[in-house]
Amino acid sequence: MIAVLRLGHRVERDKRLTSHVGLVARAFGADIMYYSGDRDATVEQTVLEVSRSWGGSFKAEYVGSWRTIVKRWEGLKIHLTMYGIPLKQAVEEIRAHHKKGENLLVIVGGEKVDAEVFRLADYNLSITSQPHSEAAALAVFLDWLFEGEELDRAFSDARLQVEPMARGKKLVRH
Ligand code: SAM
Repeated sequence: MIAVLRLGHRVERDKRLTSHVGLVARAFGADIMYYSGDRDATVEQTVLEVSRSWGGSFKAEYVGSWRTIVKRWEGLKIHLTMYGIPLKQAVEEIRAHHKKGENLLVIVGGEKVDAEVFRLADYNLSITSQPHSEAAALAVFLDWLFEGEELDRAFSDARLQVEPMARGKKLVRH
């Protein structure tokens, strides 16, 4: 089981970005996104509607206290931050934990991340040491974790499915 925890959501500032983190998490193979900060029905709704149309059971769930979920997490906690150790240094080790069946909690921040997160994480991991985006960091991490296999994943009960083609757009409805 792979969960993503998105810290510090702000309704006005992060509406689209937190939804995008959820959609990236789902598309790249995570099972659920928790988010803390402001509760936002739009985020939960957007993610739910995508799962309804495009399949699978991924959802976004609000958590009142990020501290509680991080402290109680049974499994590995990986915090993505530009200040951490390079992805390439730790990804094989993390993959080995995942293959043994351990749960992973992948934590991404917002504007300012509490210093405690750095202490509670098993890994503080950087996807380059340049500042960019939580959505990009998450996508690259999951892609390296799954070694690209998530790119071929099909979702169960999908009502909508794309038929890939070189040009044009084709949607199949089930
Ligand atoms: N100073 C922040 C940091 O610690 O990475 C950058 C803030 S950025 C607006 C929001 C989130 O994007 C961060 O909390 C982190 O999860 C993710 N992020 C941004 N750049 C990253 C990088 N180079 N490596 C890993 N995660 C990154």
